[in-house]
Amino acid sequence: MSQNINQLAESFCQFVQTTFKTTDFIPLHIPTLNGNEEAYVVDAIRSTFVSTVGQRVVDFEQQMATYLGVKHAVAMVNGTAALHIALLAVGVKPDSEVLTQPLSFVATTNAIHYCNAEPVFIDVDAASMSLCPKALASWLEQNAEIVDGKAINKHTQKPISACVPMHSFGFIGDIEGVIEVCQQYGIPVVEDAAESLGSTKNDQHAGTFASCGAISFNGNKIMTTGGGGMLVTNDDEIAQVARHLSTTAKVPHKWEYVHDVVGFNFRMPNLNAALGVAQLEQVPSFMRAKRELAKSYQAFFADTEITFITELPNTQVNYWLCTVKLADKTQRDAFLTVTNDSGIMTRPAWQLLNTLPAFKHCQAGPLPNATHLADCIVNIPSSVIV
Ligand SMILES: *Cc1c(COP(=O)(O)O)cnc(C)c1O
Repeated sequence: MSQNINQLAESFCQFVQTTFKTTDFIPLHIPTLNGNEEAYVVDAIRSTFVSTVGQRVVDFEQQMATYLGVKHAVAMVNGTAALHIALLAVGVKPDSEVLTQPLSFVATTNAIHYCNAEPVFIDVDAASMSLCPKALASWLEQNAEIVDGKAINKHTQKPISACVPMHSFGFIGDIEGVIEVCQQYGIPVVEDAAESLGSTKNDQHAGTFASCGAISFNGNKIMTTGGGGMLVTNDDEIAQVARHLSTTAKVPHKWEYVHDVVGFNFRMPNLNAALGVAQLEQVPSFMRAKRELAKSYQAFFADTEITFITELPNTQVNYWLCTVKLADKTQRDAFLTVTNDSGIMTRPAWQLLNTLPAFKHCQAGPLPNATHLADCIVNIPSSVIV
């Protein structure tokens, strides 16, 4: 068996080298900056508007809102900051609980922690790798009651103030199901759409299903602003609160400096937004290239003992990180060893968040799917091929 996996991994390496047309080291995901990036950044420098005031920030927000078909977009310094502000804007208070999935990047739980709230870990769905509505409903049935229209944890007496599903690796699962369960308990939903820019379900963009969504433009995401993030929402009040909190809560005035609450200096600088405008112009072509690559991976792995994970019906996803699933941890480790030894960068899932020192004391439901996926999945090179 393991012999088989080694051979399959070796032929996979050759396939990746042919596909990426190089025998040099092949990283997991690198940015593609072949459009108007340089021109727009130079423009920003010449304009002297390099910081948090500037036309590119406004343009980037408007163009992103149009692309996503959403009413408001608020640009911030990174995706974690956008998530943090999103949680505050939907009303997450200190000493409350926030439901989320253990299979995610640490930013998801860090943002919850920054609000002085505690994450509660609920299992993911095996196929979508994203929060499972059934597991969510069953945890809530056992642990929550509704008092004055708000969900309270019966055992800790703490309010359950939000739910943060994450669209893992760009895939979209049953997000409507998650929102429906939360609606029954009066729990607002914030989509961690950091990885899923461009992914749609029934033509609706990831990040626009729930109360609000947070997107990341870190260097390894489908598009980048160097560092950056954005909160997107159709809710006027959430947008207004987010804009206020992320710009030091300064009350607009020509010369007075009045700040009505403790805010954050989270607004995206114009230099980064200049990159963003140029990158967003190319997102449709990045999507095409990544979906093309996914198709060729799918063909390569067909009829092998490794499963290439594909989008679910009614979804068109960005394949931010293409993902394969091996039979078990031993086979996964064999695959990781052969590929990385050959200069093909591959990596396992993040360590489950409920196992990290900062979060291991937190409540968790049964996590069979997340545990299995964490043992068996591997991300494979997914950059745009130009
Ligand atoms: C990238 C990412 C973020 C936010 O990342 P930043 O680096 O702060 O922009 C948040 N959640 C998930 C799941 C991510 O992958």
